[in-house]
Amino acid sequence: MREAKSHTFAVQLMEHLVVPTFVLDAAGRVIIWNRACERMTGVASSAVLGTRHHWTGFYQQQRRCLADLVLEGAPSRVAEFYEIDRSLDCQTGALSAENWCVFPSGGGRRYLAIDAGPICADDGTLIAVVETLRDITAQKEAQLALELLASLDGLTGIANRRAFDERVESEWALSALSGQPLSLLMIDIDHFKIYNDRLGHQCGDDCLKRIARIIGGETRSEIDLVARYGGEEFAVVLPHAGIDAALSVAHRILEATDRAAIPHPDASPHYRVTISIGAASRDLAMNTPADLIAAADASLYAAKQRGRNLIVAQCRAAA
Ligand code: GH3
Ligand code: MG
Ligand code: MG
Repeated sequence: MREAKSHTFAVQLMEHLVVPTFVLDAAGRVIIWNRACERMTGVASSAVLGTRHHWTGFYQQQRRCLADLVLEGAPSRVAEFYEIDRSLDCQTGALSAENWCVFPSGGGRRYLAIDAGPICADDGTLIAVVETLRDITAQKEAQLALELLASLDGLTGIANRRAFDERVESEWALSALSGQPLSLLMIDIDHFKIYNDRLGHQCGDDCLKRIARIIGGETRSEIDLVARYGGEEFAVVLPHAGIDAALSVAHRILEATDRAAIPHPDASPHYRVTISIGAASRDLAMNTPADLIAAADASLYAAKQRGRNLIVAQCRAAA
């Protein structure tokens, strides 16, 4: 009798918690789905109580929730199902994680901090698992916005050197694994010091922005990375592109720059802003991303030596 009373008390307590909470019994069936959980997911408790369909509140496809992993005693699988695993800070048996959830019945994608912990009898037998959820979408979005900001060049709005270094590293690893080609363009504005000295820094900045836009317009926005490598030098990472594809992108960029006809105060034959481009592709003689960058740099240097406003490709035969 006393047990029945304390059970009713526990259920009512959970119902009134403002924290979205659900509880599974030892067989993985939903025994509590509180009102806050109904509000968050758009799923009524009547739809899930007594079932193993708690996942339907959060995901479109059947998958494990954190409470299931507690039930299964599978903390090592959290990383498989969740974006962030914070379980290391938890007491024995409890798990903590973060994930994007889609709420098929509620609408909207939200980022949740999730905790799940075991409820045990006096003899230590697991009798239930309680899972609580916190909507931390606003914090996550602020964090993502900050990360994005930290990866962009303040003047041109394209990727900065840091983002370039990270991307070259990751594309290098992918290319080494898959055997897919990887190419790099290094692009430098010709006689930019004279441009700046004669027209002023403000005009120089505007020119940098225009060249960044021109390069962006000739590359694949979802696949390639256009970055400001430093000063008046840009870099383009071209995944899945061999040297021929890289050269065709380079030609398009050179031609688009020519078409833009940005006036240059120099008494050179062009009287317009030109660029030089060095291209290189990953080959078996290269051991690190730095080798690829050095090869593209050497090509760029050769382009400058040969008179500027042209493209040089360094392409060693694959061993
Ligand atoms: P080259 O054809 O050999 O590349 O000659 P260059 O004059 O372009 O090269 P140099 O390295 O001598 O000069 C680069 C100039 O780029 C120096 C600096 O005034 C300018 N520069 C670098 N960063 C910026 C920037 O953020 N804004 C502006 N306005 N100018 C910059
Ligand atoms: Mg230059
Ligand atoms: Mg330069």
